[in-house]
Amino acid sequence: MSTVKIGICGLGTVGASTYQLMQKNAAQLSARAGCELEIVHIGARRDNPDCDTGDTRVSRDIFKLVSDPDIDILVELIGGTDTALDLVRQAVSNGKHVVTANKALIAEHGNELLKMAEDAGVTIAYEAAVAGGIPIIKALREGLAANQIQWLAGIINGTGNFILSEMREKGREFADVLAEAQALGYAETDPTFDVEGIDAAHKLVILAAIAFSMPLQFDKVYTEGITRITTSDVEYAEELGYRIKHLGIARRCAGGIELRVHPTLIPEKRLLANVNGVNNAVLVEGDAVGPTLYYGAGAGGSATASAVVADIIDLARDLALGQRHAVAGLGVASDHIVELPVVSIDQIETAYYMRMTVEDKPGVLSDIARICSEAGISIEALIQKQPLEGETRVPVIILTNLVQESKLMSVVIQIESLDSVQGEITRIRVESLDG
Ligand code: NAP
Repeated sequence: MSTVKIGICGLGTVGASTYQLMQKNAAQLSARAGCELEIVHIGARRDNPDCDTGDTRVSRDIFKLVSDPDIDILVELIGGTDTALDLVRQAVSNGKHVVTANKALIAEHGNELLKMAEDAGVTIAYEAAVAGGIPIIKALREGLAANQIQWLAGIINGTGNFILSEMREKGREFADVLAEAQALGYAETDPTFDVEGIDAAHKLVILAAIAFSMPLQFDKVYTEGITRITTSDVEYAEELGYRIKHLGIARRCAGGIELRVHPTLIPEKRLLANVNGVNNAVLVEGDAVGPTLYYGAGAGGSATASAVVADIIDLARDLALGQRHAVAGLGVASDHIVELPVVSIDQIETAYYMRMTVEDKPGVLSDIARICSEAGISIEALIQKQPLEGETRVPVIILTNLVQESKLMSVVIQIESLDSVQGEITRIRVESLDG
């Protein structure tokens, strides 16, 4: 049996889990790859006390691995887009195959890196970059290859989903749950990427590029986080039969492709509405297969290592057979990638949830209804709460029919300018996810 030699850069959460998984299941992995898999070199600035690397060679300078002639597959698990970019560029230039879990790197530099790999005759595999242990890249790129993908929608950030789940299940406030997520190690010390939607946008861009054979266009994603969602919004949504989820949505439409990440009300009976805690799920609608759902652990060392090692096996199998990996980075060769326009958020039509605080006096609701009606927006549902003792203001919640964002915004401005309406209106998009 031949041996494929592997180098791992980064021995943090995913790096250590990858090393350990490869030791634990070594015999089975070899059987599946059709060759021996040997980790010959680790690049780590320091030891990881939770990972005994035995007598495997360790270099403190991770760049030693890109020039190590022994290494066939370099596994990049350091994260970030600076050093990791240099590392992967150099590895590819030196003819090494690369496996990475780095969504930021692929979303922001994938066009360049995947083209470079294609030209160099090597592969950059990145299953672990989206939805951790869920094999969504393989499913979308290979399992659904027969389909024209119409749309996909996913809960692709576990931290955000954990926060929204806790807010709904336990009535807790955003800041309180975020602090717990950080203490539990779900959220980074700087949670911006998670709660502002940047991490989800990285993943959505990758899914959309594969689904629609388009370039990775991170700068075109409309991105809204969950920081403005209140426990009241979660409760009112529930009263209306919905749950609030932070979704990444990519949809083929008349003007091109919608690419958006934002909090979304979805009907409570939908499977996605029932994905809770740190779990991820991606719903994909193909023209032949219809809707398919992929669900599981979206993060964590072991789950992510599962995807990293699956990529290693795929590559090793091809190397052992002496053939090139047959699947292109985005599912099609670079000359088949089509520049589809990304539709501006102003042009996108969705239904809306609006929450506003109004004076509890006659005529207010009819003013709001008139503004909506003049703009051609119909109100599908309305809740007006009773004022609390001694209070003169009440919350009003409205669900609209489908309306273009630009039109909705002009209505929001008009309603906010009424004397009887206090402060800003909270608006959250509503998706039925049924076609
Ligand atoms: P981590 O625990 O912070 O580990 C990162 C490792 O890389 C550490 O060993 C760190 O060394 C090393 N490193 C970072 N920057 C380096 C540099 N400039 N030069 C040399 N070494 C460097 O991160 P992780 O959670 O394992 O994440 C690794 C990758 O997997 C990231 O791209 C992440 O987005 C992705 N990912 C993670 C998860 C997850 O659940 N954790 C899920 C999916 C994808 P030091 O200890 O010396 O800093």
